[in-house]
Amino acid sequence: MENLLAKYFRPKLPHIWCPGCGNGIVTACVARAIDKLQLDQDKTAIISGIGCSSRASGYLNFDTVHTAHGRAIPFATGVKLTKPEHNVIVLTGDGDATAIGGNHFIHAARRNINLTVVVYNNNIYGMTGGQFSPLTPHMSMATTAPYGNVDRPFDMYELAKGAGATFIARATTYHANLLTDLIAKAISHKGFALVEAISACPISFGRQNKMGGPAKMMKWQRDHAVMVEAMAKMDQTQLEGKFPIGVLYQGEGQEYVTEYQKVIQRAMGSDK
Ligand code: SF4
Repeated sequence: MENLLAKYFRPKLPHIWCPGCGNGIVTACVARAIDKLQLDQDKTAIISGIGCSSRASGYLNFDTVHTAHGRAIPFATGVKLTKPEHNVIVLTGDGDATAIGGNHFIHAARRNINLTVVVYNNNIYGMTGGQFSPLTPHMSMATTAPYGNVDRPFDMYELAKGAGATFIARATTYHANLLTDLIAKAISHKGFALVEAISACPISFGRQNKMGGPAKMMKWQRDHAVMVEAMAKMDQTQLEGKFPIGVLYQGEGQEYVTEYQKVIQRAMGSDK
């Protein structure tokens, strides 16, 4: 197999990510999923927002846009409407996607526009020094919550499902093969597809929360993530502290770009 690094990554080393950061694993899974599907590199666009994970667009060898904070999805919406034949993949962080970009996230899900959104969820704003995000767990430490975060976090599955997403999946960087597979499934899905990638930030989250470094953080993922099918057979005691991974939801619904094109056809009078 052709060398994935040479084919899909721009020669921009060294990258900015800290040693032990999960961002490289998630980004490699995105490249592997694209390779698995043998997508046309010239018809695949990668759009990102701002933050540690959003730097991924700069390292990948596709048509890419590194946009403003929280605005990856509106840019991606514009690209998809202009080039419906393109595979449009959004790479974004938990803060970028669910705080400043939260409104864009729910409305893109509501429209069921055919985008793949990979949320690198490291539970914190890493790049700016460890402020809590809408996905920081309750009572976790953050620089803006030195005595514990009192906010209740979003559950990305519930948020996306409630807003109307038609494909929702979750995996961790420990489960890299599963993550690759889920990203490939999300790209193949016709509609708004979310993949939540649970990723370790050993510096801005791990240190403050005494998680014990990159290897221990990945072991934490291994010990707390359970395949959704297996979870259904577990009792309340076994479920304590666990979260599901795998395909959490897949449904159908009218897709935004397809519907929009019908409107264009009607306006042009070509449906008569
Ligand atoms: Fe990764 Fe955290 Fe470092 Fe950002 S601050 S590069 S998320 S380890």
